Amino acid sequence: MDYETIICFETHVELKTKTKLFCNCLVKYGAPPNSQVCPVCTGQPGALPVLNKKAVDYSIRAGLALDCTINRRSQFARKNYFYPDLPKGYQISQYERPFCEDGYLEITGDDGLPYIVGIKRIHLEEDAGKLVHSSSTFKTSDYSLVDYNRSSIPLLEIVMDHERNPLRSVNEARVYLEKLRQILRYIEISDCMLEKGQFRCDVNVSIRPRGSQGFGNRVEIKNMSSFKYIMDALQYEIKRQSEVLEAHGNINQETRLFDEKKRITLAMRSKEDAPDYRYFPDPDLVEVDIDGEFIKNIQKNMPEMPDQRVNRIIEAYGIPKNEVLILTKNKNISDFFENCASFCNDRKRASSWIIKDLFKLLNDASIPVEKCLISPRDFSLLITFLSEGHVTDKIGRIVLEEMFKTGEGPDAIIEKRGLKPIDDSDTLEKILDEAISENPEVLAQIKMGMTKSINFLIGQMMKKTEGRANPKKVRELLHKRFRKVV
Ligand SMILES: [Zn+2]
Repeated sequence: MDYETIICFETHVELKTKTKLFCNCLVKYGAPPNSQVCPVCTGQPGALPVLNKKAVDYSIRAGLALDCTINRRSQFARKNYFYPDLPKGYQISQYERPFCEDGYLEITGDDGLPYIVGIKRIHLEEDAGKLVHSSSTFKTSDYSLVDYNRSSIPLLEIVMDHERNPLRSVNEARVYLEKLRQILRYIEISDCMLEKGQFRCDVNVSIRPRGSQGFGNRVEIKNMSSFKYIMDALQYEIKRQSEVLEAHGNINQETRLFDEKKRITLAMRSKEDAPDYRYFPDPDLVEVDIDGEFIKNIQKNMPEMPDQRVNRIIEAYGIPKNEVLILTKNKNISDFFENCASFCNDRKRASSWIIKDLFKLLNDASIPVEKCLISPRDFSLLITFLSEGHVTDKIGRIVLEEMFKTGEGPDAIIEKRGLKPIDDSDTLEKILDEAISENPEVLAQIKMGMTKSINFLIGQMMKKTEGRANPKKVRELLHKRFRKVV
């Protein structure tokens, strides 16, 4: 039978506020265990939470970016469950009235058309602490330690809507996650580093016979923090579920874990529902009344969204769309490009040098563009040198590499390393004579009309000058010398 897939995400995003959600402890990744804690975030009796305004600001920013309705009156609730990394025995979250509801995110679907994915709600909650087991798994560990540094870091949960355009394939799931992460980075509320646990997903997946209306039982795979693992887990789970249905079996509504080594999902427990958590309004926190001015102010300061930026860059600089999509994936890269564009006229060359050459250097050094020593002004100067033929592409790459290492300007590097192009006709003539006398057979070949030999001579001249011979001048010279043949 032919099945269709329904995928929905609940994405947890750690907000990059300076302090935690309900106390003044710093949000600091990699600090010594239990060094960023106080009575509030370790749940000591009598300690009272005070809401961090910045976290509310960030939640609303996310809501506006995803076209949600912002609830003017909102409330925190206690989600009751026991786990050693949750010292209060409950998590402060939002239940009945989250900050944001009914939004959407537009992606490009598998059919190449825009697809509007429904966002049900965005709520703010506190993160739990972190258990560190003495061995790789809980079962094989002699003991576990708990680090409360993460306890009460603001966590935004973005919940997709099952009933409004859920994702239909593993590929769309990937596109959704990438787009969501891109937007959250654009609005600068989280760095969304998966390896630091700042962007974690629970993913629901079910299948149903194609064309049917009802939903099959959902399986939830919890706490995924790598795009690759999410895709592997989904692929495995879709196959597993269709095999169960083919064999006339039942799919249990359950929570499963992804085994990263075996690349399979394993049943963990039957899925809990909201009543299991005995939500009730947190009596320690007053209801949050959000002022219209507060929302307006956030709206006014919202940065340009990625889709708008793509369209504007195409229009303003005439860069092909496939390149613009690469440039705008990361806000800092697009800022770098636009900075360069303000300094030089050859924007197409700037774009292609960023994508091909600068990206390679950044990747090899594993650093983000904002840590790169090259200033947009210097980068543009190099692009101008390339456009005007002051340096060849080959020399340009050498210069760029040096700029990347030292932060020096291209003019200084060219001067210091003697990389100025050789334009002078007499010098070039001499180099050509040398190349011919070292390879006397080429003359005969050229006379016989073998144009390949001309290219061979160009190559020899470039080699002798270490790429500094001005290629335009070299071609002119050869043309002049062998006019009758070429
Ligand atoms: Zn604290």
